[in-house]
Amino acid sequence: MKRILVTGGAGFVGSHLCERLLNEGNEVICLDNYFTGTKKNIVHLMDNPYFELVRHDVTHTYFAEVDEIYNLACPASPVHYQYNPIKTIKTSVVGAVNMLGLAKRVKAKILQASTSEVYGDPQVHPQTEDYWGHVNPIGIRSCYDEGKRCAETLFMDYHLQNKVVIKIIRIFNTYGPNMNPNDGRVVSNFIMQALRGENITIFGDGLQTRSFQYVDDLVEGMIRMMDSEPDFLGPVNLGNPNEFTMLELAETIIKLTGSSSKLIFMPLPQDDPKQRQPDISLAKEKLNGWEPNIQLEKGLLKTIHYFKELIKEEEGVKP
Ligand code: NAD
Ligand code: UDP
Repeated sequence: MKRILVTGGAGFVGSHLCERLLNEGNEVICLDNYFTGTKKNIVHLMDNPYFELVRHDVTHTYFAEVDEIYNLACPASPVHYQYNPIKTIKTSVVGAVNMLGLAKRVKAKILQASTSEVYGDPQVHPQTEDYWGHVNPIGIRSCYDEGKRCAETLFMDYHLQNKVVIKIIRIFNTYGPNMNPNDGRVVSNFIMQALRGENITIFGDGLQTRSFQYVDDLVEGMIRMMDSEPDFLGPVNLGNPNEFTMLELAETIIKLTGSSSKLIFMPLPQDDPKQRQPDISLAKEKLNGWEPNIQLEKGLLKTIHYFKELIKEEEGVKP
């Protein structure tokens, strides 16, 4: 049995990861400050004696004897990471220093949840790991993009200087149950709008693209990466290469929900990447043939079911 620390464990991805690690017979410490995460995501795990919940902020040091650390703590949606940009960059950078310091002291293996945002608004398509990116250092997305880029640097330098065993994954847009319905991300926005019969908000002309990965595929890739050969550090892309425009996504969600919602067009936010698609050749090669299994419509149906239940719960508590 391994003792595993998951920072950001009460968030969307973290909650699925905690559950999977517990199911595999590990002891899990879930650390979170609940900025965007919620106890609701992990309440079903709390009866498990091998699950421990810690309210803590990664910008402060933390000590525990652990074998592995998954470092996920960081708001991930543009609305949330832009709410307090200074805090966002501190979470990525100071959080990485603190978790790497812990990994160094207790000789734990540590995985960083990096992001496709390190490629910025990419001029290379699809994105391979050796592409250095096209990032505005002083724009509204910079607190997140540059924070994550600096965290990757710190991970590599702790490895080179202190021999810490590190793993870096670059996650592309991921969706699924436990997403925060108010975090402004496109999948949660469109589904909530469709279910409520509200207008679907397309930013820009809707021709920008993203590649959407279902959360179970990501969690499988994360665990394979943690268990990969010690000399494979990454960074490695984890995402679903099937690419869609936001218009296609909206139309699919309208079809799957049977909604009568109409599309409305709103201004495109600053520095919004025009296209994004992972090249996953490296993941396939190094992670025992890993590739996403759940394609968009199947994953969306599971996510729509989750949000429908959430809306029913909300309506149930109304006077
Ligand atoms: P999320 O916002 O649901 O989860 C982040 C969690 O970190 C939340 O529970 C939040 O409360 C916690 N947190 C934030 N700041 C913290 C702090 N200072 N100390 C302790 N906890 C803190 O987001 P998510 O989608 O689950 O993303 C998880 C990780 O994966 C993030 O690091 C994100 O950057 C990365 N990622 C996610 C995606 C995606 O599409 N979901 C894409 C790329 C990268
Ligand atoms: N988007 C949109 N309508 C929304 C929310 C987002 O058209 O209500 C667009 C957004 O401009 C971006 C894409 O959807 O082009 C993905 O946005 P998200 O915030 O989910 O992720 P990111 O931009 O970080 O990939």
